Amino acid sequence: MAQSTETTDWVSRFADEVIEESARRAPGKPLVVASGLSPSGPIHLGNLREVMTPHFVADELRRRGHQVRHLISWDDYDRFRKVPAGLAGVDESWAEHIGKPLTSVPAPPGSAYPSWAEHFKAAMVEALAELGVEFDGVSQTAQYTSGVYREQVLHAVAHRADIDAILDQYRTKKAPAKQNQQKPLDEAELEAAEGSGAAGEDDGSAAAGAGSVGYFPYKPFCGNCEKDLTTVTSYDDDTTELSYTCTACGFGETVRLNEFDRGKLVWKVDWPMRWAYEGVVFEPSGVDHSSPGSSFQVGGQIVGIFGGTQPIGPMYAFVGISGMAKMSSSKGGVPTPGDALKIMEPQLLRWLYARRRPNQSFKIAFDQEIQRLYDEWDKLDAKVADGSALPADVAAHARAVGTAGGDLPRTATPLPYRTLASIADITAGEQEQALRILGELDPENPLRSLDEARPRYDKAEAWINTQVPADQRTIVRQEPDAELLKSLDEAAQQSLRLLRDGLADHWSLDGLTHLVYGVPKVQAGFPADATPKELPPEIKTAQRTFFALLYHLLVGRDTGPRLPTLLLAVGQERVRGLLGE
Ligand SMILES: [Zn+2]
Repeated sequence: MAQSTETTDWVSRFADEVIEESARRAPGKPLVVASGLSPSGPIHLGNLREVMTPHFVADELRRRGHQVRHLISWDDYDRFRKVPAGLAGVDESWAEHIGKPLTSVPAPPGSAYPSWAEHFKAAMVEALAELGVEFDGVSQTAQYTSGVYREQVLHAVAHRADIDAILDQYRTKKAPAKQNQQKPLDEAELEAAEGSGAAGEDDGSAAAGAGSVGYFPYKPFCGNCEKDLTTVTSYDDDTTELSYTCTACGFGETVRLNEFDRGKLVWKVDWPMRWAYEGVVFEPSGVDHSSPGSSFQVGGQIVGIFGGTQPIGPMYAFVGISGMAKMSSSKGGVPTPGDALKIMEPQLLRWLYARRRPNQSFKIAFDQEIQRLYDEWDKLDAKVADGSALPADVAAHARAVGTAGGDLPRTATPLPYRTLASIADITAGEQEQALRILGELDPENPLRSLDEARPRYDKAEAWINTQVPADQRTIVRQEPDAELLKSLDEAAQQSLRLLRDGLADHWSLDGLTHLVYGVPKVQAGFPADATPKELPPEIKTAQRTFFALLYHLLVGRDTGPRLPTLLLAVGQERVRGLLGE
């Protein structure tokens, strides 16, 4: 078993709290942490925090030897609220399914799954497996339709006046004073909130319209059209006889609630019912659930009606995405955990979540920033290996690379992501050429197969192909820029000569780094290995000018991939030609 990370990072502190709470509430029982996800469309990458927060806590508890159940509630019995834009094969005609449970809506065309909910759930399940998240998924459709919650439903309906009284305290309460209000959610945050159940802040009071029985915390799905646009018109507490009519199709019927399984508790009652039913001790929620009068707060009172206690529920901040290129229309433009895992290893994605406390927001980089993130990650990896990392960083690293069950599969030779990205960029899918360049990076210790650099190489290649705009891709010149070469003064020509003459002896990543920085030093009369302290500041300007010249001659632009990588990629012969030999 992996060792407990003996530090006081946020995960460790929550684990302490969970142990203490569980010992008080249910001594000797397995610890239960929970997440809830609504497969109402592609599940937004930001919603991954809903899972990762309890995952890290569950994992820490397992490392300490506890039995833990990480419950993921698939809120697939929620109503289909709206047709997501931009999904291939899904047009406005799908609006006819609005109001049905997500498991009763057909999957998008071409899907291998039987329903809308199953289709979008499957992509998330796949991503969670790659991320090493161990969980117990529970379909709320299966729970409700098999009558698992029948007693809880009857109990809630019997105590509807008590529930109504609790909800009423919040209904009459005005919104908090302006200065306390949360800033409005931006578009990305709203998108993220869509998938988190926030959309279902229904408390059942809508049922109290004309002709209804007053407040009713349970909603039947119509026996004819399957929609939840039903109004309960009468209920007999003694017989549990319930009558409803459907405003969508006019259908109506009378059923016995003690044997009826086609409906669900409204969200604000459903959630605390499940805390009590499952004995949940830890379940975080997004900022949208945590404002005054929101479902988490109200649930804290309603859960008592079911004989339970509110879980420890930290509020987590939204996770943003930086620079995701417009996704193909089949994805509806929503970045999913699967999209992130195409361009980064699961360790990096785990690390992004592990190193920030849940109430800190952060961004997941789909743009150039991903290269810097990877540099930071590799630096941390090296520090952990040589024992020089800080304890909190060691903890985040340990949570990123593995779980109580063992380490996640890792890239055997983790070459720098930016180098791999540059090579993938320049070679444009030619694997043989990529392998040649990778083999020359470190001639002492050459890479023998691309597989040694995988899966990191594949992620960097996917990033280049899907996220880097065409005008930022590198295209090596086919022919030398004769005009530019002819216009160069003597000094510039000398610098190219010095470079060409050094190529053969410096043909490795380190060697070429030394060479390209050294040429301007030698030209100015200093030794090639002189350190910055021994050099006048003008050398920096000379280096920049020299680099710009090389980029122009090699790729016809001001900038490009790091020069040593670019030179290796282009190959000695071709470099000589392009540099005027
Ligand atoms: Zn109907």
